Amino acid sequence: MIAYLECFVHENDTESRPDDDVSSLSKALDLQGSIHDCEGPTDEASRDFGGMYSLAPLAFIRPSDADDVARKVKEAARSSNLTVAARGNGHSINGQAMADRGLVLDMRSLDDHFRVVEANNGSFYADVSGGALWEHVLKQCVSEYGMAPRSWTDYLSLTVGGTLSNAGVSGQAFRYGPQTSNVTELQVVTGKGEIFNCSETENSELFFGALGGLGQFGIITRARVLLQPAPDMVRWIRLVYTEFEDFTRDAELLVTRQDEEDSFDYVEGFAFVNSDNPADGRPSVPLDPDQVFDPTHLPRTAGSMLYCLELARHYRHADDPSIVDMVVAK
Ligand SMILES: Cc1cc2nc3c(=O)[nH]c(=O)nc-3n(C[C@H](O)[C@H](O)[C@H](O)COP(=O)(O)OP(=O)(O)OC[C@H]3O[C@@H](n4cnc5c(N)ncnc54)[C@H](O)[C@@H]3O)c2cc1C
Repeated sequence: MIAYLECFVHENDTESRPDDDVSSLSKALDLQGSIHDCEGPTDEASRDFGGMYSLAPLAFIRPSDADDVARKVKEAARSSNLTVAARGNGHSINGQAMADRGLVLDMRSLDDHFRVVEANNGSFYADVSGGALWEHVLKQCVSEYGMAPRSWTDYLSLTVGGTLSNAGVSGQAFRYGPQTSNVTELQVVTGKGEIFNCSETENSELFFGALGGLGQFGIITRARVLLQPAPDMVRWIRLVYTEFEDFTRDAELLVTRQDEEDSFDYVEGFAFVNSDNPADGRPSVPLDPDQVFDPTHLPRTAGSMLYCLELARHYRHADDPSIVDMVVAK
């Protein structure tokens, strides 16, 4: 790796970064064990979910904690043109988590930090690592505390830092806002390699910059996520529409209902093709395992597109099931 680093610098960068800088960079970056060779375009850090770009980094680094992230960023900041990108689970589609011949930090390697805290006002929060996958956060919150974050993404193999750097949207956002609105505190490593705690009241500019900031205002190493009691059960419903106007009218009605007692806990809509193509047609919208989508139920007027509202109502074992039935019927 050292040879690779020097070779790169000699070929491309001798003017802006003299040799003594290179060796100090190599030392300070702690090449032992934490930097991994980049083998060109096939390397994990040179690719993302979108598959449209391939940019080979100089190094793919696996930091173990916030101090380690800060050390790497501080050293990179000493160079005039070495860029750094945090990489969560690489589910961007446009190369956002890549650094062309720069340093890519694998945030999933951060220590698995997890702690649930109760605030003075009785609210519960989970302190989690910026590199934690949401599916692990959910599992820990539910299995150890019977709690769950309030706002989600549909797909959970995404990191906390990755979605907080975007927004994090799913069927609960109509009630609680995106995931970025359900975080009360962050620990962030800035571009100078300094570590700050920030919130609405402490270093607020950094807090609001980092949330939705695509990693450009700092690297999120820890987040305090608002929790609520996890439901015991969920009534899950999918409604298929043939008319776009009916679909949007019902969606608007459901998301603007104010009374939580009388509405759904999850509302999301999507469109799909009226065909039997498994990729984007009717088979791509699974129903209950014992139910199949029967296209003969579709009216003759149905066009080439169909629309689906996905709804869920939470309840507890102790709740009278007729209450759930009543809300659904209404
Ligand atoms: C199959 C799939 C399903 C999806 N479903 C949803 C969904 O339901 N709802 C939704 O809102 N989005 C969804 N997305 C989009 C997804 O939320 C974003 O692409 C998100 O950025 C991916 O998270 P990641 O951990 O893979 O981040 P990456 O793609 O690795 O990084 C995303 C951006 O965040 C930056 N970043 C990563 N970690 C940090 C950190 N710790 N601190 C600061 N910056 C950081 C990166 O530099 C990059 O700019 C989906 C994407 C895919 C591919």
